[in-house]
Amino acid sequence: MSKKVVIVGAGVGGLATAARLAHDGHDVEVFEKLPECGGRNHLLEDAGFKFDMGPSFVLMPDFFEEVFSYCGESLNDYLDLRIIDPSYKIIYSDGEALTVHRDSSRTKEELERIESGAAKQFDKFIRETTRIYNVIRPLLYKCVTCKSLANPYYWGLAGKIRVLESYWQLARKYFKSDKLCYAFTFEAMFMGVSPFQAPAFYSVITYTDHVQKIAHPMGGMYQIPLALEKLAKKFGAKINYNYPIEGITGTGRQISLKAGGCFINPDYAVVNADYAYAQTDLLKRKIPEFKYSCSTYLIYLGLKNKLNKLAHHNLFFSKDLNKNLNQIFKDKTIPEDPSFYVHVPTVTDPSLAPSGKDIIYLLIPVANLMKSRDDLAKHEGRIRKLVFDKINSLCGCNLDELIEVEHRFYPKDFIGWYNIKYGATFGLAHNLTQSAFFRPANFDSKIKNLYYVGASTQPGGGLPVVIAGSRIVADLIKRRKVP
Ligand SMILES: Cc1cc2nc3c(=O)[nH]c(=O)nc-3n(C[C@H](O)[C@H](O)[C@H](O)COP(=O)(O)OP(=O)(O)OC[C@H]3O[C@@H](n4cnc5c(N)ncnc54)[C@H](O)[C@@H]3O)c2cc1C
Repeated sequence: MSKKVVIVGAGVGGLATAARLAHDGHDVEVFEKLPECGGRNHLLEDAGFKFDMGPSFVLMPDFFEEVFSYCGESLNDYLDLRIIDPSYKIIYSDGEALTVHRDSSRTKEELERIESGAAKQFDKFIRETTRIYNVIRPLLYKCVTCKSLANPYYWGLAGKIRVLESYWQLARKYFKSDKLCYAFTFEAMFMGVSPFQAPAFYSVITYTDHVQKIAHPMGGMYQIPLALEKLAKKFGAKINYNYPIEGITGTGRQISLKAGGCFINPDYAVVNADYAYAQTDLLKRKIPEFKYSCSTYLIYLGLKNKLNKLAHHNLFFSKDLNKNLNQIFKDKTIPEDPSFYVHVPTVTDPSLAPSGKDIIYLLIPVANLMKSRDDLAKHEGRIRKLVFDKINSLCGCNLDELIEVEHRFYPKDFIGWYNIKYGATFGLAHNLTQSAFFRPANFDSKIKNLYYVGASTQPGGGLPVVIAGSRIVADLIKRRKVP
């Protein structure tokens, strides 16, 4: 039976949920505070440069396909996803580089150059991460709570997915050199957590990088929310922009949302806005002492010329990665010598910039704003110089002279733009006590018709995983016997 559903937020999670529920025959209305869709998967356009401001890696393309096939559509009619080659380039502080290729035999040659015997170890490591991925994949479409632990099915899982080991410890079993351990665990930083803290099962990201490879949507990452918006609208979802929800109240099966000074009383509501923010600011609840992911300082440059020597994805590692991670996650100070990521999407997709020009997007992980002990503004000039110097020395250029347009995005902007608690770029941290059974569930424990989708809820953050969360919400609503 068709129900009225309100969705709070038009991020990728909100749009994917809107598409599924509209396809299922519900009367869906989305309310988004910003003037456009996408949330953290945002687009900034200036002087012909199209900057994707957030995600840049498309992993697990089958999760993207699934939401379209759920709605009886084909992803290929909405998105032109292409596997990129090389996958990425790692630049160590001593100038040595490691290129990860689409063809793993070429990657293995690179590994062998850094550590003798690493090619064989790579095969073993990938076999192990493949095994873990196969255990985890079906769980990504389920909402599990501590009560689920009563089910014996879950008891054996702990050992199978190595819950007591960290991502780093797993890599260390296979590789002797720190250089390769970093190369096989840096992905944790994209979950906003240190590889020393992230559980070993997050090594499924390394599996996806190396086995499923890395894709890029032609036209840029913003094509993803646009495609989901189109899908949702095709099935009749209505999307209201510049329309923030101001509060949520309810008891039992009653739910009421305040917007523009009026009250809306749908049958169901799905909150896509950041979970911690929604609890404190919309529902006026106290929340537990959650751990939050790191934040990021982002610089977007439109260049007058093209650079060489950089791949589509590049990772520059700090000389002392351990210290760098401690400064971000433990000391909560601004890193002295930060590791950083450089996205040059125009390597694959020249349509994102005027002819003959490049886009460079720099992502520098920094502490979030919860009890932060330092001020980024004080260190900004130093960090910028350090990062620019490393790129200049690799590319033989002077970035400052090449800049045509520049934009910056600070930790506080995550709060101002998207309502992300403490500016924690990736939401709640992905440590053991906030993963799986222990991550906020996709339903509210008090208001029965209230659901959650997005990075800080189950199954977790990252585009494909948030899209899987939208399936969980659609299934939970479908399974409701009584409205
Ligand atoms: C810099 C960066 C790099 C990343 N890199 C990658 C990557 O390479 N690959 C990858 O897969 N993932 C990456 N991620 C993570 C990925 O972007 C997120 O996990 C995902 O986009 C989160 O989507 P969401 O739907 O949960 O939330 P959001 O994108 O946060 O969407 C929530 C929406 O709710 C809206 N909202 C908030 N409050 C209200 C309110 N009161 N009323 C109405 N609307 C409201 C917000 O404006 C927003 O549009 C990255 C993220 C960032 C920021």
